[in-house]
Amino acid sequence: MNSRDVIQPGATLGVLGSGQLGRMFAIAAHRLGYRVHVLSPEYDTPTGQVADLEISADYQDLDAIAKFAQGVAAVTFEFENVPAITAETAVRYAPVRPAGQVLHIAQNRAREKGWLRDNAIPVTPFRNVSTQEELLAAVVELGTPSVLKTAAFGYDGKGQVVIRRADEAEPAWQTLKRQECVLETFVEFEQEISVVAARGLDGNVVCYGPMVNTHSHHILDTSVTPGNLPPRAVKDAFDIACSVMEGLEVVGVLCVEFFMERDGRVMVNELAPRPHNSGHLTIDGHVTCQFEQQVRAVCGLPLGSPAMVRPAAAMANLLGDLWEGGEPQWGQALATPEVKLHLYGKAEARPGRKMGHINAVADSAEEAVRLVTTARAALKLR
Ligand code: AMP
Repeated sequence: MNSRDVIQPGATLGVLGSGQLGRMFAIAAHRLGYRVHVLSPEYDTPTGQVADLEISADYQDLDAIAKFAQGVAAVTFEFENVPAITAETAVRYAPVRPAGQVLHIAQNRAREKGWLRDNAIPVTPFRNVSTQEELLAAVVELGTPSVLKTAAFGYDGKGQVVIRRADEAEPAWQTLKRQECVLETFVEFEQEISVVAARGLDGNVVCYGPMVNTHSHHILDTSVTPGNLPPRAVKDAFDIACSVMEGLEVVGVLCVEFFMERDGRVMVNELAPRPHNSGHLTIDGHVTCQFEQQVRAVCGLPLGSPAMVRPAAAMANLLGDLWEGGEPQWGQALATPEVKLHLYGKAEARPGRKMGHINAVADSAEEAVRLVTTARAALKLR
């Protein structure tokens, strides 16, 4: 890596997307002395509240995108559904990291799974579905139960239907408005795990985790690392994450989500080419957090150490549901001094909306999970 490739502290970084991931990226960037501009269609956003400049424009407003990219030293993004044309426009004026090609693959399940299969990476068995014939053939080939998922714009379980019997396939596709889909085998997994990886401009890769994740209503509930996982699962998950980072030539951060079967075999469920909710525990649990790695990678700086500061770290998400009975009792959660509270500055607490998270580190995974879940429960004690 050439030192002239380095974007020096003091420069301005651009983020497309303005949610909590952009906010935590901006906080990490500020710590390293960078300025941050953010662009999204919204205003007074989690990222905008902490950025040096918040621009409200549509991602398809290419004049606004060009002007935005001209004003920054590099562009990154915090969600993968940034339109391809947006990245193509931005890259005329500033490097886009990770590159638009990574976005292109990760924003469509059919392309993503196809890329994984073509690169000999274990992935949930799947078939592409764009016609009725393909749907019926896919159900015969994969059997039931299976899961029909829209190829585009799915997250947190949105845009997917479980098919328990063959005759449920057509109504399921109807529910998904007969969009392009993938049909996947329903995996009777033992655990859901994830690896967050960062890759620098020099090609160096570091990995976090694997994190063991629990979900509630398809939304991440808790993450903890280390998990009590078979050594084979840990090795395979890291090897796969490294292959993905190198194969896609990612410069930045990417999360690989896996299903782990009872025998310790892992297969990829999906890729997220950005910091990930399961990596939020790195903020307090690791020497360098996932957001700082994104800053370092985007700027061409060496990556930081992913070592843990204590033997275990855990995270519990705070969803809008916690506000149902009124403002959560923050003091009660923070009465446990080990607990760290992260709130995203969202004014409106809707059920299922990610409002913040709680982190804790401890000498064991069990203790770290106990700390974050007990603190979260204390928010509702009246
Ligand atoms: P996704 O949006 O693909 O990450 O799916 C959201 C959640 O649905 C996952 O975290 C799993 O809990 C569940 N899920 C998705 N696909 C499958 C599958 N093929 N087999 C079993 N569970 C699944």
